[in-house]
Amino acid sequence: MYGAVLYGPRDIRYEQRDDPTILAPTDAIIRLAATCVCGSDLWPYRGTDPVTAPTPMGHEYAGVVEQVGDQVRNVRVGDFVVGSFMASDNTCPICLAGYQSRCVHVEFAGAGGAQAELLRVPLADGTLVTTPGTPEPDLVPSLLAASDVLGTGWYGAVAAEAGPGKTVAVVGDGAVGLLAILAAKQLGAERIIAMSRHEPRQKLALEFGATDIISERGDQGVAKVKDLTDGLGAHSVVEAVGTQEAMMQAIRATRHGGHVGFVGVSHGVQIPGEELFYAEIHLHGGPAPVRRFLPDLIDRIWRREIDPGRVFDLSLPLAEVAEGYQAMDERRAIKTLLRP
Ligand SMILES: [Zn+2]
Repeated sequence: MYGAVLYGPRDIRYEQRDDPTILAPTDAIIRLAATCVCGSDLWPYRGTDPVTAPTPMGHEYAGVVEQVGDQVRNVRVGDFVVGSFMASDNTCPICLAGYQSRCVHVEFAGAGGAQAELLRVPLADGTLVTTPGTPEPDLVPSLLAASDVLGTGWYGAVAAEAGPGKTVAVVGDGAVGLLAILAAKQLGAERIIAMSRHEPRQKLALEFGATDIISERGDQGVAKVKDLTDGLGAHSVVEAVGTQEAMMQAIRATRHGGHVGFVGVSHGVQIPGEELFYAEIHLHGGPAPVRRFLPDLIDRIWRREIDPGRVFDLSLPLAEVAEGYQAMDERRAIKTLLRP
């Protein structure tokens, strides 16, 4: 098969690789209908996370089960499935509490590299969710989005306790931030503030349900949120970037007693203890337990209630993966879909 391998900063190659095989009786092999480039793939692509060896890339997937191990019961060859980027047994106490991304048997589902024709998914019974049938082709991008960015944005909104009567602010206008807006809208938030300075992203934010746009960042952005909320700050803030500036912006834009849902992969973030103490807010986040939300998200997509696939504003053959990364790196694309 062919797949994408990262060799070093800005050196991503499309090359022939060995087909994955069943390694454990709980594995499944998926033939990908579509895959994509994640904002978090840009950390190693840009060299922020060091690349010490050629690394197969990609952890977002939707496709058809091609092979299963002897102990797999819940999915069958031929099923169309979506799974989380974190493989989980979905039976341990942590999974049962809804935190499958920290399952006691957790494995990274993208270890084999999902930007490829085939992917081995560990713990298939706990990780994969079947769709009601073979999806119409136009539903595939949205189902793929459920694998990570939609599930992560949704978790950000849930962790921030977005809901009726709430003002929700979203820091970050990447695919996750935009889908946190969609989630906040679905969860019934009254007012949704998108913090974005990029016109095409502002437009999508408004289409997903944002009611206000703030283009200022940092403390100026915080001041604008307070202007819109009687000086109090938002009830709920989603942090979907992972930098120091974004995290502090999220904490400072939250009213006392409010909630921050932080889902940006943390890079060098340090929270001053005294400021946190007097902020008197709830912090809840981490790698999203996408598996918790998948059945509901697939259902909403299947009924065409939501169209999260609209975050893909660039679609390329997998062979052009390098251009897919470059377009996101240069912010020419919000998110790149790749067709194996
Ligand atoms: Zn578990």
